[in-house]
Amino acid sequence: MTEVLRFTARGERDVFVVRQRGREVAEALGFEQPDQVRFATALSEVCRHLLGSARSAVVTFAVHDGRVEAVLQAAGAVPSGPTSGLADGVRAAARLLDTADLTEGVAAVTIRLARRLPFGVDPGPDTVERIRADLARTVPTNVLDELGVQNAQLIAALEEAQRHSDELLRLNAELEETNQGVMALYTQLSDEMEQTNRGVVALYAELDERSAQLREASDAKSRFLRNVSHELRAPVTAILGMTRLVLDPQSEPLTGEQTYQLTLIQTSAGDLLTLVNQLLDLAKAESNRLEPGWAPVDLAAVFGQLRGTLRPLARPSVELTVDDPAGVPPLVTDEGMLVQILRNLLTNGLKFTDRGEVTLTARYDADARRAVLTVTDTGIGIADADQERVFEEFFQVRDAQRAATPGTGLGLPYARRLCGLLGIDLTLDSEPGHGSTFTLRVPRTPSDITGPAAGTGGGRPTTERIPDRADGLARVLVVDDDGAFRHRLRQILEADGLSVDEAADGRAALDAIAAGRPDAIVLDLRMPGMGGLELLGVLAADTAARPIPVLVLTAAELDDVARAATAHAAGVLDKATLDDRQLVDALHAVVRR
Ligand code: ADP
Repeated sequence: MTEVLRFTARGERDVFVVRQRGREVAEALGFEQPDQVRFATALSEVCRHLLGSARSAVVTFAVHDGRVEAVLQAAGAVPSGPTSGLADGVRAAARLLDTADLTEGVAAVTIRLARRLPFGVDPGPDTVERIRADLARTVPTNVLDELGVQNAQLIAALEEAQRHSDELLRLNAELEETNQGVMALYTQLSDEMEQTNRGVVALYAELDERSAQLREASDAKSRFLRNVSHELRAPVTAILGMTRLVLDPQSEPLTGEQTYQLTLIQTSAGDLLTLVNQLLDLAKAESNRLEPGWAPVDLAAVFGQLRGTLRPLARPSVELTVDDPAGVPPLVTDEGMLVQILRNLLTNGLKFTDRGEVTLTARYDADARRAVLTVTDTGIGIADADQERVFEEFFQVRDAQRAATPGTGLGLPYARRLCGLLGIDLTLDSEPGHGSTFTLRVPRTPSDITGPAAGTGGGRPTTERIPDRADGLARVLVVDDDGAFRHRLRQILEADGLSVDEAADGRAALDAIAAGRPDAIVLDLRMPGMGGLELLGVLAADTAARPIPVLVLTAAELDDVARAATAHAAGVLDKATLDDRQLVDALHAVVRR
């Protein structure tokens, strides 16, 4: 604390002195005029009240801690309670300065007023000394002089206020103008936005309509394919059955020519049945009626099976090489579907390769958690322009080389559909004259599938259903997690004129039943997810489903629980010793009941 000036004020007359000296101190310390006035006014406000009751007060001006301070100490009893005039004065001073406080001692009242020094002002001891000397030299003027000074200051303050008010008016006018401009711009922008929005909405509506039309068309196509295939299958199976009957060695003897022609009929009907079945498969895959039966798949066994069944199809000049997939960990996928995809690709390779080799390889991409399977041939290849089209239904490349090759144009589209269900990425790389490579990237497990795969619920569920009976065909639902076994049952049952639906577990079976009530169910007991016993329980509790006869097929010995649960089944057959005839007879028996 460095004192700048100290004096004693006595009586009300000295209020002017205190005011004047305060202003001088502020001016000497570098305050601008408005701040000098603030400081002086605060001082005079406080002094007015203080000197009204106290006889005298010691006034000290000092520089302290970056601030100018005025300390007024009055001796004797001065009313200073919160409602006193002095307290009012201090409150008024507090509004003008940074600090104004009042302390009551035993026999004295102290008021401390302070204001931060102007920015950048930091008077050293020399400066303070000089100010002190200057102030000591000047003698306070008389009341009239100080009044004159006060008046001049007031006028200056009024002028300043007037300037501020003018400036404020000008700013207001400007703001008003700007506001109007902004409003106009806003209105214009809103109009434009509204128009754009309307356009976008219309565009989306049109898009929605288009996709609805597309979906409708695609659904209609699938529906048509399914219904037509169903209708066709019955007469074709009838032709096959009757031909088999006539050709049976135990039937009436035939001439050589008759046998020859009947064999032709049999072959053609067999081809037709294959086509119809392919169409039906495709239509089902398209409408997401095929549910993959996820289970661990032994790739070595799959490859072995393909090697065995396809080698006979290779011409003598073509080598079929099937790799050993030893480096690939077990995959969880649908074995039946995977076999079908690979079989289609390999059969094509063998069909369209005159010499060289057709190769199936497998490796594992651990980072991507994908098995990478390739089917490569050294055949005639596929031109760039056709590489996407070969995946379209019924598309076949038309050229001289292929003219005599039989086929339906359904193999690749079906393979691609199945790949979609299993989350497999199927790509083709081919160069005419040099051969083709089809690459499958198979997810290690269903949980590795990225993006929507129909088989994991990503597909659109279908609401329409296959007719319960096409041409009076009884419909059998085969529920088994073993895809190969389901496939075998399908062949047996279809050959016998039954219509077959498949489900890989109890839940899929319930979906299939909800979509169309089967005439009978062939049920495996042990399945991942909802097993056979559980499904039996659900069916028994459902009045609509209870009457559907269920034939249980199991390889396991039944324990007491299982025996109780299967008590209401139409029959329990041993999977291990089951022969085709037994199953077909049992089914016909329950369907007729
Ligand atoms: P399909 O073989 O029954 O005609 P796909 O859908 O399997 O029907 O194949 C469609 C067409 O794609 C075939 O007709 C053929 O023209 C062409 N194609 C398929 N695979 C090959 C291949 N490995 N090499 C050359 N052309 C092929």
